[in-house]
Amino acid sequence: MADRVLPRKGDRDTGAFFEAADRRELVYKACDDCGTVINPPRARCAKCGGWNTSWKQSAGKARLNTWSVVHQQVHPLFPAPYTIVVVELDDAPGIRYVGYMDGAHDLHEGMAMRVRFEPTEDGGALPQWMPDNAE
Ligand SMILES: [Zn+2]
Repeated sequence: MADRVLPRKGDRDTGAFFEAADRRELVYKACDDCGTVINPPRARCAKCGGWNTSWKQSAGKARLNTWSVVHQQVHPLFPAPYTIVVVELDDAPGIRYVGYMDGAHDLHEGMAMRVRFEPTEDGGALPQWMPDNAE
């Protein structure tokens, strides 16, 4: 069976995000001049036009924005049912990340979520999301 497709390491715009995930850290891009969060990550701030941007550490807490439960399997590496979630970071409103959860879950809009790091075949990790029951 084939391995899951992994993100390309070293990409100039997204590479640092996946390198941080390999260290089990969640990061997001923001402008150092005006504070605007930048997603998808780019070198230049779309609000003020500045090039002074950097990666910020996130606490890994978020709110569930939306989700979809997939009941019909479309690929053997993703057995059904599974749930695709979209969360918005608590410490960086405007940054929304997509994640994968095994199985179907009892979810509701706005519920507290927290990051978990799913190990990958190359020894790294991908950020995924789970309900934060410590809410
Ligand atoms: Zn800016």
